[in-house]
Amino acid sequence: MKTKPEFYTVKQLCEGFIWSKEDHKGLNGLGGKLIIQPEYQRNFLYANNDSKLEIAVIESIRNGYPLGVLYFNQIENGMMEVLDGQQRITSLGRFLSDKFSIMLDGRPYKFSTLPKELREQIENTRIMAYICTEGTEYEVMKWFTIINMGGIKINDQEERNASYFGPFVTKAKQVFSNKKNANVAMWQKYVKGAVDRQEILERALEWVSHGDIDNYMQEHRYDDNIDELKDHFDDVIDWIKGTFDDVHSDMCGLKWGKLYEQYHSNNYDHVALNNKVRELRADDRIGQHRNIYEYVLGGCQNDSLLEVRVFDKTQKTILYERQTQEAKEKGISNCPDCVIEGKANKDKIWSFKEMEADHIKAWSKGGPTKLENGQMLCTRHNRLKGNK
Ligand SMILES: [Zn+2]
Repeated sequence: MKTKPEFYTVKQLCEGFIWSKEDHKGLNGLGGKLIIQPEYQRNFLYANNDSKLEIAVIESIRNGYPLGVLYFNQIENGMMEVLDGQQRITSLGRFLSDKFSIMLDGRPYKFSTLPKELREQIENTRIMAYICTEGTEYEVMKWFTIINMGGIKINDQEERNASYFGPFVTKAKQVFSNKKNANVAMWQKYVKGAVDRQEILERALEWVSHGDIDNYMQEHRYDDNIDELKDHFDDVIDWIKGTFDDVHSDMCGLKWGKLYEQYHSNNYDHVALNNKVRELRADDRIGQHRNIYEYVLGGCQNDSLLEVRVFDKTQKTILYERQTQEAKEKGISNCPDCVIEGKANKDKIWSFKEMEADHIKAWSKGGPTKLENGQMLCTRHNRLKGNK
């Protein structure tokens, strides 16, 4: 790969820049020769943060601080595309076209209202760019991911979008990375992540690819449609919505893709399933409420999912045998609370069925569901304790 350094003034870089809110694509600089937002680039993020980052770019120039090197890639017909610097150039272009203000002596100024010498200082600031004049697509894309864009760190999916850029990624981003998509708010009830950081797209790809996103993107890179991706995502979401009546915040970010694969072809009694969910959600002995969905989908078999705070049959049997043996030897009741109470039942031996297991130190106060923290109480005493 061959690169060469070049200097451009801010004025040159912003020549031909026209900001469009609707579509960040097609942004140009250098009089049309520079493509500021190529297909594989991220959405414009600086403007999200109350323009603070944009303003910081202009303040840096005003104070003569370095803005950092830009990286361009030369393509056909003398055109170049921005590999790194998109956000900085866009901030400059937006400022020079009066899209935001900076503060000067306590007053806001748009570019066109600044004093002439300040406008000239900004326009004449020179910024260095490295231009890749020769390189394979793979080399250039690798360079792009390594450069790692000023400030905000690129995440896994942004890197994949760069590596496999093409018609598939472009179309996928239009649906899954588009804040204006009316479905986004509904998706985010179940899917965690930021739309403009490609995290919803990442989940959609994970679900359709059964976790093998890279291979899937490589295989579909040049597809001119995203039907399979879109349909699968919609199927999963529709299945969740159709299965569970109530929406709770702990449903967001569950492994829905896997749950769908495992359970979507099962038939459930819809009313019974949702009643079971409500019943379990109201049960404060359950440690893991977010696992309730997986638990009911699996037919309420895998108790360990719930981290239920109750003693199992084996534990209860051990506790019962131990207490009863001891009580019989001492001639007292096998319910310690009946002994303390000292009334009619003080020497009564209760049967196993007449007793319940109790946490000596309450589960709600961190008492474990273990033998050393367990005891059997007669039903009445256990209920009394539970109501305290
Ligand atoms: Zn008792």
